[in-house]
Amino acid sequence: MPRRNRCTAKLRLYPDPVLKVVCEPVGDDEDVSGIIRDMLHILTNSKTGMGLAAPQAGYTKRVIMVSFAGFYETMIHPHIVARSDDMVIRNEGCLSYPGIYKNIERHVWINVHYRDENDKQQTGIIFDMDARIIQHEIDHLNGKCKVGD
Ligand SMILES: [Zn+2]
Repeated sequence: MPRRNRCTAKLRLYPDPVLKVVCEPVGDDEDVSGIIRDMLHILTNSKTGMGLAAPQAGYTKRVIMVSFAGFYETMIHPHIVARSDDMVIRNEGCLSYPGIYKNIERHVWINVHYRDENDKQQTGIIFDMDARIIQHEIDHLNGKCKVGD
């Protein structure tokens, strides 16, 4: 008998208006564990997704999740504080725009500041595909997606 799954999280697809909302900050003592749980559920069930932004789970909060080799990192208030001059163009897709792929130019590396899910401030210089995913997800927090726009 299949295990009952109480999670009702649902991936939001274009043209859901939530994808166009500029997301709000997360308060210092605001509990976002429910958002994180739903995002993890959607991302792990997506098979192909490498990242997710809160609006794709229906929440207009500044939270993203990125799949790094083998684990999922939650980033609350991700903020790019430095970026490479070098750019790279690669084909990119988005779970909320199924079947659409576009060549999109991104910075090769970024320095990103964020709060992790344990509320610890983190900073990291991130390269290549991981940097691309973060740039893509931060666009979502601003109501944008270069794959669909
Ligand atoms: Zn996306």
